[in-house]
Amino acid sequence: MQLPERLFVDGGWKDAAGGRRLSLVNPATEETFVDVAAADVADVGAAVESAQRAWESGWRDLAPAKREALLHAVARKLREHQEEIAQLERLHIGKPIADARDEAGLGARVFEFYAGAVTKFGGQTLPVGRGGFDFTLRQSMGVVAAIVPWNFPFPIACWKAAPALAAGNCVILKPASLSPLTALKLGQLAHEAGLPPGVLQVLPGSGSTIGDALVTHPLVRKVSFTGSTEVGRRIMELASRDIKRISLELGGKSPNIVFADADWQRAAESSPMSVFANTGQDCCARSRMFVERSVFEGFVERFVAATRKLIVGDPAKDETQLGPLVSAGQRESVEGFLNDAKVRGTRFLCGGVRPASKGFFLEPTVLLDVKPTERCWREEIFGPVVAITPFDDEATMLREVNDTPYGLSGSVWTSNLSRALRVARAVQSGVLSINSHSSVHVEAPFGGFKQSGLGRDLGMAAMEGYTELKNVYVGE
Ligand code: NAP
Ligand code: MG
Repeated sequence: MQLPERLFVDGGWKDAAGGRRLSLVNPATEETFVDVAAADVADVGAAVESAQRAWESGWRDLAPAKREALLHAVARKLREHQEEIAQLERLHIGKPIADARDEAGLGARVFEFYAGAVTKFGGQTLPVGRGGFDFTLRQSMGVVAAIVPWNFPFPIACWKAAPALAAGNCVILKPASLSPLTALKLGQLAHEAGLPPGVLQVLPGSGSTIGDALVTHPLVRKVSFTGSTEVGRRIMELASRDIKRISLELGGKSPNIVFADADWQRAAESSPMSVFANTGQDCCARSRMFVERSVFEGFVERFVAATRKLIVGDPAKDETQLGPLVSAGQRESVEGFLNDAKVRGTRFLCGGVRPASKGFFLEPTVLLDVKPTERCWREEIFGPVVAITPFDDEATMLREVNDTPYGLSGSVWTSNLSRALRVARAVQSGVLSINSHSSVHVEAPFGGFKQSGLGRDLGMAAMEGYTELKNVYVGE
């Protein structure tokens, strides 16, 4: 398998202006396996100019049916290369191969969805009071910068690039330093599928080196970001200078609420993967569990038993459910939370330790008696750690559920329909599932309330977010 090692700019592979490199470490083996070119500020300028040229000289005005056909061609390429994309994802972040295959398929599906959306998306005509004729246009913005994280590198790259391209923009994709390979592959395959030079470019490079240049470049009209709250806040500050459009997806501390009237046995068996999937490095991880007291003991017993059965290990094996954490630093950060819990006398029902093998592995960890003031309860851990607490009444529980600066996702388990709907309305989050842990649907909007973010990915909401709304009035 050929590993991409250079920037994908203006329709081809390019070396970085400053000669910097990113060394990639396989988190399952701790071995360095490739060096990839890392962009400098000069590369940002060149990419933005190429993108602007591509936008003005054709992409902006391309007939919708042609854009639709091109995005379908990209999706076909991604499907043809699904296995290769999955293997690259496994290599650079240690994603279990079965999940990596699903996510490669999801990326292709996202391109199919937005290919179809191109010809069904437009403005309205409006009956304004003056008479005459009033209509709205959805106009492309120009150059969009998409800054993506390392936890779901390929699908998130696709769910930013595809709607932005479908809406008529050109995209500069900046992958995380830990995970540039699948983004580069996307750039290459999209070009092979027929996207003109400059329409989709991929610039690996350190966020601290090129982030500001990308975010503040006057020709970049929109920044779409997924990652930490800290970087999101900085992007928002920089964007305020020229009122740049932004969308931010910043993680969460999502609840998983189980009522006694639910099929709580099923909830207990399925809930471990709602927090431990992707080794907990998931902004939707249900990391705070609220279980009604009358079933608490039985629930916890089943939950822990199901957790112990999870297969942690070599991400190359089909049966592996949890791979390593993405880096030594990420594991140390998670262990910092666990040390804090230990000092405070928190009960560990399982996990909390490194297995003997090489790689940045950590056993999935179940905590009891975590106080609402503690770090493990309040902060996003981004690792395989859950805290479970009992509750007695719905109103108090909901206050605790909403007592967090985050509001991304969550689940509620009950067989009482009115309760399910009442709780679904009351939880302050952008996404919620009832008797399920599913959060991401290509067709539906995804994003957060409060400090979990701004704007929405996926669904038609994402297309709206990559356009300006113009109103045109024609007098009689
Ligand atoms: P991060 O720093 O926010 O990284 C996300 C993306 O932003 C990466 O592409 C990163 O590039 C880039 N970036 C970093 N500094 C930037 C800057 N000044 N301007 C523009 N872009 C910049 O996240 P992280 O440090 O990898 O992870 C830290 C924590 O963030 C995690 O532990 C987790 O809590 C949270 N997180 C959340 C999500 C989510 O899905 N919401 C995803 C990842 C992380 P580099 O990789 O080159 O720094
Ligand atoms: Mg960072």
